[in-house]
This record gives sequence, structure tokens and C-alpha cells, in this order.
Amino acid sequence: MIRLTSYVCGAWHIGSGSARPLFNPATQEQVAECDSTGIDFGAVLAHAHDNGAPALREAGFATRASWLKGLAGTLHEHREELIEIAIANGGNTRGDAKFDIDGATGTLAAYASFGKRLGDGNVLPDGEGVQLGRTARFWGQHVRTPRLGAAVHVNAFNFPGWGMGEKMACALLAGMPVIEKPGTASAWLAWRMAQIIVDAGILPEGAFQFIAGATGDLLDRLGPQDCLAFTGSSVTGAFFKANDNLRTRNVRINIEADSLNAAVLGSDVDSDDEVYFEFLNNVALDITQKSGQKCTAVRRILVPKERVDDVVEALVERLTAVRVGDPAKRETGMGPLASADQLADVRAGIDKLAAACELKCGGSEEVQDKGWFVKPTLFVARDAHADIIHAEEVFGPVATVLPYSGDAREAATLVNKGGGGLVASVYSNDGAWTEAVVLGISPWTGRVWIGSDKTAGQAFPPGMVMPHMVHGGPGRAGAGEELGGLRGLDFYTQRTAITGYKGAIEKAFGAGE
Ligand code: NAP
Repeated sequence: MIRLTSYVCGAWHIGSGSARPLFNPATQEQVAECDSTGIDFGAVLAHAHDNGAPALREAGFATRASWLKGLAGTLHEHREELIEIAIANGGNTRGDAKFDIDGATGTLAAYASFGKRLGDGNVLPDGEGVQLGRTARFWGQHVRTPRLGAAVHVNAFNFPGWGMGEKMACALLAGMPVIEKPGTASAWLAWRMAQIIVDAGILPEGAFQFIAGATGDLLDRLGPQDCLAFTGSSVTGAFFKANDNLRTRNVRINIEADSLNAAVLGSDVDSDDEVYFEFLNNVALDITQKSGQKCTAVRRILVPKERVDDVVEALVERLTAVRVGDPAKRETGMGPLASADQLADVRAGIDKLAAACELKCGGSEEVQDKGWFVKPTLFVARDAHADIIHAEEVFGPVATVLPYSGDAREAATLVNKGGGGLVASVYSNDGAWTEAVVLGISPWTGRVWIGSDKTAGQAFPPGMVMPHMVHGGPGRAGAGEELGGLRGLDFYTQRTAITGYKGAIEKAFGAGE
């Protein structure tokens, strides 16, 4: 039995308590166990503050960027082994596993490339300098410098690879040491990646620590220079926000939470338009990829009323053609959910939606004796405005078609009823209609993906998070923001307004006109 250990204070720690089991979701066999009992979290934090942080700052941006490049390359060398683990513990198909693992290495490599242009220092000019006095002598410049604390990263079970990679890319490039805690159910992959990172010896000691299991009293110890980046459910996010220590000491928190992402089909789109096929393929992919356990997966599909029958027929054809089964087999299109809890939650969510919708395929019934499987499930809402459809995030291969008028304002009202989303996709060749929808939904949406015949076949699907663009969303999506190129460093740096003699400011901070 593999026992996942924690890398803290320069050594691998074996938990001394009763361990939590990790399973193969396709067979329900236990594959590992995990426990963090006995870790001295005060010492973990001190190690990050006293060793990791100074060593990272000493290096400067360009060197840190080169370390990220090294990590991306080293992890990539272990790709096949990592894919096998993601299949065995995450229930991932090979495609799902690559999505997660390549997402991690790709994001590390992207930040290596963003960072190599930043030079050897630790200061980032923020915007243009500005004349503040009667002459240009008295000058102002905003700058960003690394925060002096540690970055605690608490990640969700669904992307153990990418979640760890994307957060650490930004924190390490910014100059903050990382304490990573993955979701326990699928932590084997993150743990193996942590071993590879530690063994590579690329990072200075203290820059990366890894917790397998609970975080003990770590969050109660964080101070104003530390930060907590969390990805998971809005319930856990709200629990962190209410933590007395985090609240009273104004610890910086970023929350990436649930989202009822929407896809909107314009009424101008004909059945033979290229963008129509892109719409169908993207929606079917979103429902089934990672068995729908993707924070960016589409949950609500807005379709003009007169097109609903065609769209449902085409989607049901695609979804019922997906082979559900053992993710280790290459012919399998969709694997199981990640855990027994997930299966119970998804079945309960399907039953709730069934009260307000017509079931077109899938459903909550058992698929097979062993394994936490559910079939791709498509509903059509009886009333597109029914509250339940906009409130219930069923975190599995489940989506609902919402018949609407085709009007841009109604589309925006329905999308925004989700209370804040990570991504919305809009499919149309009508520029004015698209603009009206995009403007209507932007205040409630972190990322808007526009599909048209002009980009069909050339675009990444909307469920894919790109390091160049921000990830996060307002309201129930957590009100957080990650990535977005160098914007991703904002969370890990302090913005300071420096005012004084222009010549001195330009000399010291390399900024100004
Ligand atoms: P979760 O139950 O909220 O758990 C998320 C993480 O928080 C896990 O590492 C969990 O650890 C940890 N955690 C829970 N309670 C904690 C506590 N009291 N103290 C310290 N850590 C605690 O969410 P999940 O089930 O893993 O993930 C699914 C949810 O994440 C979905 O709602 C999905 O929409 C959301 N998600 C959002 C994004 C995004 O970018 N916005 C991305 C992926 C997923 P344990 O596993 O050890 O309990």
C-alpha cells in the first residue's frame, strides 16, 4: 500500500495518525492512504518564511523563470508514469489525464516564458509613471514587489496536476514559497509530482513544501504577508472566509469556487454553419471530459426555442455514443466519478434537476456494480428561468438545455442568473447580437469565449483554461482571479505607490518615462 507522505522542513514526513484511504474509482479498490498527523505547522511556515522566501528573492525573476522551465521539463519526462497514476486514482481516461498533466507542465512553461523578460530584480513597474509636482521632478510610480510570507495553496480533487502547477507557477515566479495541499481523494498524482519536484533539486530548500492530508492549524497561523489561494466548493470557500485568524489579520485570500457555466447559441446559427458543429462538439466535450468534473464545464445550454429539438437530438447522439467504462482502456470515452461521495452528490443533483426538467439521456440509475460511474446526462428545462437550474451545480457529466427566445437581453438575464460564472461561451455569426450578449454577461463572468465561423476549427474549447488569460469569476465563482499572464503575479506581490525625485525613482525601479 502506498502511503502518501508530506514534504515539510526539508524532509519527507510520514503521518502518525489513522490514514484516509484513496481508491481506484473504477474498481473501488484502495490504492493508497494519506495522513499528515504529527506535522508541526509552525515549523512549516517558519521554514517557508526563513529559508524559501529569502532564497527566492535572492534569485530574481529571470532565474526563477528558468527554474519553472526546469520543473516543466522534468515533470514532462515523467508524463507516462503520471498518466498511469491519474488513471488509477483519478478515474481519468488517458485524454483526461493528459489534460491535467500537460496543463500543469504547459502552465509552468508559459510562466517561465513570461518571466524570462523580467530581468534579475524583484520589482515590477505597474503602469506608467506620472508627474505629480509642478515640474516632472516630483514623480510617482506604482511598483510591485514580492510579499514576504508563504503562499498556501489548497486545491480541489478534480485537477491534482494542473491545480498545483498553475498556482505554483505564479507564486514562485513572483518570489513566494509554496505550501501545497491537494484534494485528498486524488492526491496520489500531486504527491508523485511533488516527489519529482523535490528530487529534481531545482528549487531552493523551503520554496516548495507539500502536505498530504489535513492542514492542521496552518491557516490559524498565517499572517498579513502570507496568502491563501483556494480552489474548491463555495461552501469550503465560505468556511475559510469566516476563519477568525484569516479575517482579523487580513490574510490575502483568493477563492476559485463553483460555477454554472453557460453556452449560448444565437438564433442566426444554421444547422450547416461551421460554428453549429463547433457548438455541439464543445458542449458534448464539456459534459464528458473528466466525467464533467471540470470547474469550467458547461452546465446550462441556452438554445433558441425553435432549435431545441434539433440540438437535443444531435447532443443525445453524441453523448450516447460515448463509451463509459474502465478509463485504462483506450476505447473508453468517459471514466467514473472520482469518489463515492461524488457519485452520491451527482445522483442527488440529477434527481433534483429531474423535478424541473425532462430527461433526454443518462440519469441517476446505477451503471454497473463496481465503480462510481454515471452516464452522460442531458435535461431540457420546462421553464428556463426556474431557480433550481441556476442554483444547483451538479459536478459531473450533467447539463441542461434552456429553451429561450433568442433575444440578447433574455440570454444575458439567464446567464447572469447563475450568480457569477467562470466562463460563458457564445456561438453566433451576428456581430451586433454577440456584442449585446457579451456586454450583458461580462459583469457576471470571468471569461467570455466567442465562437463564430471565422474561428471554427481554430480555437481551443471554452473549457480549457489558458495561462495567458485570467481564470476566476465573480459571485458564486468565488470572486477570485488567477493566471492572466503577469496579472497572475498580482496576488503574490504588494503594489506600492512610490513618489519622489524622478531621477532616483527611475534609477532604483527602472521605471518612468
Ligand atoms: P472541497 O470539498 O471544497 O475541497 C477543496 C479543498 O479544500 C480540498 O483540498 C479539501 O481537502 C480542502 N478542505 C476542505 N475543507 C477544509 C478545511 N476545513 N481546512 C482545510 N482544507 C479543507 O472541493 P472539492 O470537492 O475538492 O472540489 C470540487 C469543487 O471545486 C466543485 O464545486 C468545483 O466547482 C470547484 N472547483 C473550482 C475550480 C475553479 O477554478 N473555480 C476548479 C476546480 C474545482 P480534502 O480533500 O482533504 O478534504
